[in-house]
Amino acid sequence: MSNLNYNHTTADRLMRYVQIDTESDPNSDSQPSTEKQKDLASILVEELTAMGINDAELDQHGYVYATIPANSAKNVPALCFCSHVDTAPDVTGKDVKPVLHKNYDGGNITFKDDKTLVLSPVDHPYLKERVGDDIITASGKTLLGADDKAGVAIIMDFAHYILQHPEIPHGKIRLLFTPDEEIGRGVNAVDMKKLGADFGYTLDGGPRGTLEGESFSADSATVIFEGISAHPGYAKDKMVSAIRVASAFMDALPKDSWSPERTSGREGFVHAVHMDGGVEKATVQFIVRDFDTKELANHHQRLESLAKETIAKFPGASYQLIVKEQYRNMREILDQNPFVMANAEEAYKRAGLNPVTESIRGGTDGSRLSFMGLPCPNIFTGEMAIHSRKEYVSVQDMDKAVETLVHLVQVWEEKA
Ligand SMILES: [Zn+2]
Repeated sequence: MSNLNYNHTTADRLMRYVQIDTESDPNSDSQPSTEKQKDLASILVEELTAMGINDAELDQHGYVYATIPANSAKNVPALCFCSHVDTAPDVTGKDVKPVLHKNYDGGNITFKDDKTLVLSPVDHPYLKERVGDDIITASGKTLLGADDKAGVAIIMDFAHYILQHPEIPHGKIRLLFTPDEEIGRGVNAVDMKKLGADFGYTLDGGPRGTLEGESFSADSATVIFEGISAHPGYAKDKMVSAIRVASAFMDALPKDSWSPERTSGREGFVHAVHMDGGVEKATVQFIVRDFDTKELANHHQRLESLAKETIAKFPGASYQLIVKEQYRNMREILDQNPFVMANAEEAYKRAGLNPVTESIRGGTDGSRLSFMGLPCPNIFTGEMAIHSRKEYVSVQDMDKAVETLVHLVQVWEEKA
């Protein structure tokens, strides 16, 4: 339960927001990648305006900006609360029918539109901690979209609460809703100057009490093999097939380590995400991930030596390695501004939570925002089993996150 004496609106908001299809599309070049993401964004602008916010705005790139003005006379840093409106293209987000399971009894949760689907506390042990809560799921055919509409609902409910409670002192608060986070383009067109915030928090984390201040550092690496083409009827001792070179290279990669399916915790990996090729040329695309940015160079080097060893077995073949930076571990920035995490931990404690700091084996909008000048850890929302048809969220977790934000703005005001 939230300790705010207030009728939270998170459940009602989440159930409405998830019915609006906002799936992003990695194959689209437009910004936002799908125009329909603006359907939800414009509803958010209307609702913020109805709450009394006078500058809520949807820009042409699909971002919503809005301000809760400061009511403290102190010089409090401007905070930004951020969540993304899009849903992952992995599972359809069209015609989502949210179902509210009141007072969860600890058993299996079934789905009315797919009787074969079962959400079980055996496979999803976090559910055991949520007995008695109200759980929201989809109906079995779609994802729910709590990732990240739980974050959206939390920020909206927080705004609703804080505007009704002018006695709570706080600095300027900027709200930011982004498109296309799921396809890695969430902050491409954010106007940092217009945003005008000093520090930020994304609302896109999982279990109650978790606080994420560390993400992967990420590069892409593309290995291109060139072979030698010849007429197959007269190819003896002439042809070098790039397909065979690339296959030998893939076979040379370790099978029990150094991949997503063989690593966990703080281990990094390389992951082949795409391969194509012909006789003359074959390409393997990797994503390269590590918490320690310096280690990325070692991963690239290891790929390079494997490529070298491989072409040595195919005289005439050659290779090329192209590395591109994707995002960096936000901890590098947060360590320079330790109060951003410390203030969040203080707010968690005031909300009665024991903060559990975690590392994301991935990235968030916050990883990139941190390097764009907005140090930005990630706060829990309760969204669980994301990117799947079993996705669920506890209403009480969302309400607890709202309460945490209410404490958080006060902690910042007190320390100013
Ligand atoms: Zn998310």
